[in-house]
Amino acid sequence: MPRLLLKSLRVKQLLSQLLQINRTGFKKGGLKLRTRVPEPPLVPPDPPDPVGECAYCGEDLYPGQDVVEIDDKALCENDYCIKGYVEDYVEIKKDITFDEDYTIVDYAHDYLIHYTQMPTEEDLEYMAAEAKIEEKLLERG
Ligand SMILES: [Zn+2]
Repeated sequence: MPRLLLKSLRVKQLLSQLLQINRTGFKKGGLKLRTRVPEPPLVPPDPPDPVGECAYCGEDLYPGQDVVEIDDKALCENDYCIKGYVEDYVEIKKDITFDEDYTIVDYAHDYLIHYTQMPTEEDLEYMAAEAKIEEKLLERG
């Protein structure tokens, strides 16, 4: 047999041995790996229903989503909605000239915005329960 062929046969043998080890190794290690990395669900869960909409652009806002609040109105966090809302609906009481160094969005962040999140389902249940308790207390006087 030519030497080269012999060599390649040896390589093949080694490779198949290696593969064998890998296979059994995988079988043993596979279970361990499984407990560490959860399998992703086959079907992605349905997105939750929106619980509100941006007071400026009307985009849906979802439970737990970070939002900004101005005058108790929820808005998307982005500059576009903040700027638009403040320009259209907020009377600016301070005498400030806005420029690129201090924009209307900066002003909103400094004086108007309350950072919050849209309520989750649990929050809503909690709020409903609280409202009920308050109602009962009012009934009693
Ligand atoms: Zn928006």
